[in-house]
Amino acid sequence: MKPKTVYVCEICGRQKDSPGEAMMCEEKHILPQKIVKACYREVVPRRGIDRSHLMPQEILVLFKNGELVRYQTSTIVDSTQ
Ligand SMILES: [Zn+2]
Repeated sequence: MKPKTVYVCEICGRQKDSPGEAMMCEEKHILPQKIVKACYREVVPRRGIDRSHLMPQEILVLFKNGELVRYQTSTIVDSTQ
């Protein structure tokens, strides 16, 4: 049996065969710089442990390349993931 070394992009998790390929993958990603606006709307909470009304339903994110992107959500992902 022969072991194989793989290199992992620390941003997306893709496995590459060389450190150069992994570095190129990391460099191609456009990273978020900051949240410039968080929009909270009045939402009636659903039954159970729904906390979505406490979180912003929409955020505007400024990326390091200057692009501004709007993200909207209606679901909270389990915080233990
Ligand atoms: Zn990557």
